[in-house]
Order: sequence, then C-alpha cells, then structure tokens
Amino acid sequence: MKHVPLAKPNLGKYELEYVTESVKSGWISSAGHYIKKFESEFAKYFHVKYASSCSNGTAALHLALLALGIAPGDEVLVPALTFVATANVVRYMNAVPIFVDIRQDTWNIDPEKIPARITPKTKAIIVVHLYGYPADMDKILSLARKYKLSVIEDAAEAHGAKFKNKFVGTLGDIGCYSFYGNKIITTGEGGMVVSNHKQLIEKVIFFKNHAMSTSRKYYHPSVGYNYRMTNLQAAVGLAQIEKLDQILRVRRQIEQTYKKALKHIPEIVLQPSFQGRQSVCWLFSLRITSEFGKSRNQLVSFLDNKGIDSRPFFIPLPQLPMYKNSGVFPITNAVADSGINLPTFVGLTQNQIGYIASVINQCHKQSKNE
Ligand SMILES: *Cc1c(COP(=O)(O)O)cnc(C)c1O
Repeated sequence: MKHVPLAKPNLGKYELEYVTESVKSGWISSAGHYIKKFESEFAKYFHVKYASSCSNGTAALHLALLALGIAPGDEVLVPALTFVATANVVRYMNAVPIFVDIRQDTWNIDPEKIPARITPKTKAIIVVHLYGYPADMDKILSLARKYKLSVIEDAAEAHGAKFKNKFVGTLGDIGCYSFYGNKIITTGEGGMVVSNHKQLIEKVIFFKNHAMSTSRKYYHPSVGYNYRMTNLQAAVGLAQIEKLDQILRVRRQIEQTYKKALKHIPEIVLQPSFQGRQSVCWLFSLRITSEFGKSRNQLVSFLDNKGIDSRPFFIPLPQLPMYKNSGVFPITNAVADSGINLPTFVGLTQNQIGYIASVINQCHKQSKNE
C-alpha cells in the first residue's frame, strides 16, 4: 500500500478556472469580484447575515476579539484542548486566556466547569468545536447570558457541523472559520468571520483594512491590521463552497466506513452521537483506552512504519511554556494523551480505510500477545 497522508486538499476544475480568470483579469489583490462573491455565497450557505473574509483563521479570531472590544487585562475563557491560535489571539489583545477543562466524552469545553473560572474581569468565551464535533451551545449561550459574556465560536475545524439544526459558527455573537490547506474547505491560507450583527462585521472590516476611515482616505483612528484575503484565494474559496455539500457527504461516508471497520475493537473510544448534534468529520479521531495495550505514541509510530500518516491530539495549552501555571486540567491531559487523528480527505478509498483499520488491529493484537 502506498503512503497514506493525513489530509489532502480537494481541488478541481473550477478552482483552476476561477483562479485563471482572476489572474487574467489582473485583479489579484484584495479587490476583485471573487471576494464579494465568496463572502455572499458563504453567508448564504451558513444562513448568516454577514460574512467577511480575511487572511487566515487566526486573523479571523483576532478580528473577532478586536470587533468585540476586548481590552488589556480582560479575561477570555478558552478550552484547554485546542489549537494554539485560539489562545494566542487573546494574548495579541494583551488580554488573559483562562483555560477551562474539557468533557471526557465530547472533548469540548465543559460548561459545568465554566462558572468556577469566571471573575469580574471575564468578558468572553471562545468555544471550539473540536475535530468537527459541536460543543454544547445551549448551555454555553445560557451561561453567557447569565454572566453577560460575548461568545466567539472557533469553527475552524467544523464547517457544516450543526447544533440543533443550526450551523456552528452562527450561534454565538461572532464565528470564525479557517481555510488552511488541511481544513474542510481551503483557500490555501484564508479565514472568514461571520455574524448576524452589523456593527461587529463593520468593525471586522475596519480592523482588517488598516483601521482606515471609510469617509476619509488615509485617516486611521486606531492601529489596524492588513488581514485581507486576496481575490486569488477567494476564487479558490468560491469553487470550494460550491461543492461543500458534496465534500461533507464524502466525509460522512469516510466516517461511517471507519466506524464499521473499527467497531470490533472495544478499546477504541469515539465522540458520542448526541441528539441534535451533527458533527462533521474533519479528521477522524479516536481515543484508545489503557486496555489497548500500546500507548498512543506507540500507535502513531506503528502506523508510520506501515506508511500511514496520523497525528497525536493537540498538546494541552497549559503545558506550553507561555501558558504554564494556569490551572489543573485532568480530563484534558487524559484525552490529549490518548487521542489520535487518522487520515481523512476526499479521495481516501474504502480500501485505504480497511488497510488503516487492519494496521490498528495488528498493533492492538500484537500488544495482547506480548
Ligand atoms: C486551524 C485552526 C485555527 C487557525 O487557523 P489558521 O487558518 O491556520 O490560522 C484556529 N483554531 C483551530 C481550532 C484550528 O484548527
């Protein structure tokens, strides 16, 4: 079996056609009609009023905090298990990320543990829908109302996931997506901020464009950023959003095939299927229990030796040097140490999934016989 990568972008005829058109037109920077078209198609798809593109998912999160007016010294709640950018953007604001432990089953922020982390300085929560699994938005939104906190959704890994029939990313005050090369849809690098609040999106547009006044050229009332998306990226993005339904359908099939192929191994734990939560399979992810016999790192190298690319779960952010001494997070540590992401991309074949499952089984059996 040939090497199986973790992820691969799904690029075709229309990506090439739209990019070519954009090159030929000469509109390759951040003016050009693909930008507006990509933004409006994105807003339409996700049933949200406003969508504003930007240079990457991290910039989207930073713009969300800028739009909400997070001030130096403010505290922002962040799950302890996520990609590092979720917390770094809080530091960009000279604000303080306050980590919250996760739930053992969903691997998402534990709403029960939120109140204990709230202080008079707490201004917002960044919810992450980890590996495409929707967090409990009902509980989070009700806590946010009670404590008067803004809710930012980091949906960088969850394009198309739904909580009670609404797309994640559109339930809080402001939502952020990433279009990095390994995400569900891609523009190479790229991001999107969505909101139903006009004032918030106006601020996003203001800050991503050097904080330039809309009425007076080269008048900048505050320090801004250049976080704009290019027309070239938006050309790719438009072709991608046009086939998002199809991409999600294929990813659902991949998830089902993995589940079937692995269901006879009881030492494997997946995220639960809860009523009202429709996850998307960004990267098929699982945990192994201590009875599996081998450690997660051993499983990663076992797969690697057989030509299969995989990833360990994110390292808990409180274990990184810049976030040390920010509390104790037993569930996060246990989940992070036992979790693995498997190859997931459009084009991954049933045969390849069968092969990956058989290699996992081999690793498991070998440990039993030792
Ligand atoms: C990918 C990702 C980001 C950052 O997106 P970039 O486009 O790479 O900047 C932020 N949060 C999460 C959870 C991600 O997975």
